[in-house]
Amino acid sequence: DIACVNGRFGPLADAVVSVEDRGFQFGDGVYEVIRTYRGRPFAVDEHLARLERSAQALQLSLGPSKAQWGTLIEEGLRLSDLPETKIYLQITRGQAPRDHPFPVPLLPTTVLTFRELHPLDVLVRQTGVQAILLEDIRWGRCDIKSVNLLPNVLARQRAKEAGVFEAILLRDGVVTEGSVSNVMVVRNGTIQTAPEGPRILSGVTRAKVLELAKKEGIPVAETMVRREDLLGASEVFLTGTTVEVLPVVRVDGQAIGSAVPGPIAQLLSRRWEALVG
Ligand code: PMP
Repeated sequence: DIACVNGRFGPLADAVVSVEDRGFQFGDGVYEVIRTYRGRPFAVDEHLARLERSAQALQLSLGPSKAQWGTLIEEGLRLSDLPETKIYLQITRGQAPRDHPFPVPLLPTTVLTFRELHPLDVLVRQTGVQAILLEDIRWGRCDIKSVNLLPNVLARQRAKEAGVFEAILLRDGVVTEGSVSNVMVVRNGTIQTAPEGPRILSGVTRAKVLELAKKEGIPVAETMVRREDLLGASEVFLTGTTVEVLPVVRVDGQAIGSAVPGPIAQLLSRRWEALVG
């Protein structure tokens, strides 16, 4: 596996940043995850645009330009030469003596890692997954893809301990998103999902799946979904770079519909495969 730290490529095992890096000490940084399909990176422009928005929101510079990030991604893929790759990009506010205000001068640390992507088991995709509901204890800017993932880490760990795939988060009884995915429900034939805003990450997959749904003539409503709406939905599914379109068949042990992947999730999953294939 390959990594790139501040523009220098080398084996991932040898890649290091300082213990005084602000990413390490403060979680003062932003990131992206991009995957390849057939060896080509998918939706690079969308991911780099979001990286830029996240960086700007934290008054952090993008470091390399978008074109330079693109070149680094290509170079890393060439060097790592994997069948499919999970590309991790990170920018932090750099190395400086520990002090809360931004350091002067500002020298961001940029990191890329290239690791083999292991696709989700086909059987899991066919049967669907289970989820638990948890209180969303994250901060007020979940639209920023920051490396502060502690609430997400704790939520996903709870899901793992419960023997299920994902934790779906609720703020004041309203569904925000999953710990690593966006959440969509189907009620009366309409796809409902939380609107973009500070409570959710604007998912690259979310946007593309909503486009696919509209093309199929499936009504879409970006609206509040309450806990009881989710539990009473005919379908629930997750979207995300790694999960793609993934049906959820049980939530907190309760069956969603007849506890099998529903027709809309299955259709969109097929359309997704066609889009990326
Ligand atoms: N929400 C959260 C909290 C996530 O971590 C992710 C995965 N990046 C998503 C949503 C889905 O976003 P995307 O489709 O851009 O991968």
